[in-house]
Amino acid sequence: MNPIKISIIGNGGVGKSTFIIQFCYSKFIEDYDPTIEESFRKQVVIDDEILIIEILDYYYDNDCTDYYKRGNYEKTDGFIVVYSINDKYSFNELENYLKEIYKFKKVNEFPIIIIGNKNDLEEQRVISKEEGEEFANKYFCPFFETSAKTRNNIEETVFTLLREIRKY
Ligand code: GDP
Repeated sequence: MNPIKISIIGNGGVGKSTFIIQFCYSKFIEDYDPTIEESFRKQVVIDDEILIIEILDYYYDNDCTDYYKRGNYEKTDGFIVVYSINDKYSFNELENYLKEIYKFKKVNEFPIIIIGNKNDLEEQRVISKEEGEEFANKYFCPFFETSAKTRNNIEETVFTLLREIRKY
């Protein structure tokens, strides 16, 4: 069975690796080593169907070439694009990530879920839930606020993306 490939992208520090570890192993790891590229596989059952998913955690720095990015984007079936609710800069960058997806995929529609992570850190919030929803609506993407710490909406995010991939 070919795995369904999901890429998780967004600024450094928003919780991409933590999201994957929480989804795959139901654990919160505070000091996970950032890696250049890491992939995780998990078997899931969705609507009575067994699927293997592979989640790819990419780290892009400024030196990253378009050639390298295109290779990664081309093999991806669906994206989770992440900001964190306590980091305005990560929210402002969302549009660039979406533009890159459309550029490399050469489409104007694709299975993408937008998430505002770290919603357990309410006292540090700088982006309201409404701002997140409004942005996602503009791009016709489903939206969740999540916590990779408490597991809030982690499974919902992945399962919604799998359903979007199936519809696509
Ligand atoms: P990445 O660079 O996007 O992969 O971010 P990491 O997964 O390395 O997370 C960066 C830091 O944020 C780590 O210290 C995590 O423990 C922490 N973190 C990630 N997600 C959450 C979350 O939902 N809530 C809280 N409180 N901390 C989080």
